[in-house]
Amino acid sequence: MNSIYNYSREKLDLYFLDKSQTKFRSTQVFEALYKQKTTDFSEITNFKLELRELLKEDFYIPKFKIMKMQESLDETKKFLFELEDGNLIETVLMKNSYGYSICITTQAGCNMGCAFCASGLTKKKRNLTTSEMVQQVLEVDNIINKEGKRVSHIVLMGIGEPFDNYDNVLEFLRIVNDQKGLEIGSRHITISTCGIVPKIYEFAEFPLQVNLAISLHFSNNEKRSKYMKINKKYPLDELFKAVDFYFEKTNRRLTFEYILLNDVNDSLEDAKELVKLIKGRNAYVNLIPYNNTNIFTNSILLTRSTEEKMKAFYDYLKKNKINVTLRKEQGHDIDAACGQLRLKEIQWKV
Ligand code: SF4
Repeated sequence: MNSIYNYSREKLDLYFLDKSQTKFRSTQVFEALYKQKTTDFSEITNFKLELRELLKEDFYIPKFKIMKMQESLDETKKFLFELEDGNLIETVLMKNSYGYSICITTQAGCNMGCAFCASGLTKKKRNLTTSEMVQQVLEVDNIINKEGKRVSHIVLMGIGEPFDNYDNVLEFLRIVNDQKGLEIGSRHITISTCGIVPKIYEFAEFPLQVNLAISLHFSNNEKRSKYMKINKKYPLDELFKAVDFYFEKTNRRLTFEYILLNDVNDSLEDAKELVKLIKGRNAYVNLIPYNNTNIFTNSILLTRSTEEKMKAFYDYLKKNKINVTLRKEQGHDIDAACGQLRLKEIQWKV
């Protein structure tokens, strides 16, 4: 049996047409699932009994088990969910001035092996289904709905590389953006990639105006290849060719994420190289303070830049007319770094 959350409205249309029903049935199912938050097909009262029975035969409505929830002083909430097959995933909710954004996981583990990332320490076990991504949003939204709040923004920046799970992620985007679904505006959704070049070309053709962020973190090939395996396959010149194609095709501004690591990529030389790379492009740079993880990489303990260095880096970019922000830290009193909570739980179980 299939989870109903795997189905976009377009896919459900096909299902109902095949059952000699009108497409309007899928709109009704969507409203029941995502507006009324139905958890039982019997509650879809505008469906005749036979239709409800048909849905029950072909689909089910799954629910996650919440294994753990941590709440930070700044209201950041971190959830550890258990999937049906026992895999554990993390989801983070952050309070911002513009609303509540949720950072979702797209894979159980990750094979990209970025050296600064706790998630990269555990290999990918499998891709998440569309349903498992939708459920993360629904579960958290349901929890905060009780406090009169709602999830207004989604970032696909949790564990996993979204473009390594491309088809399921695109179906997820269609569902959460659907007006009859969760109705999260496409400009309120950001997908982040470490740089899978062929998928950047493909994504430029995707009709929804979803924001794209590139996890750049290094501005020369030598360093980027040392800390990010993906750069060996798709070095910076190939990445920026794809990025320029994306600009041309979509006319959308792109974000470059840059984690500041002490004595690794935070010098003024690094800032200069970054300016050279970005200048003249419709982009902005998001500087991110590193969450220390006690993880050794190439026998080096990666640590966070000092406040002075972060400020100097930021100022240099600003002075050179690069749009730049220094991300406000959230949830620093809980296991805030991507993958930390899951990693701890796995270690406890071993
Ligand atoms: S930073 Fe993202 S792509 Fe890289 S290992 Fe971590 S989860 Fe995977």
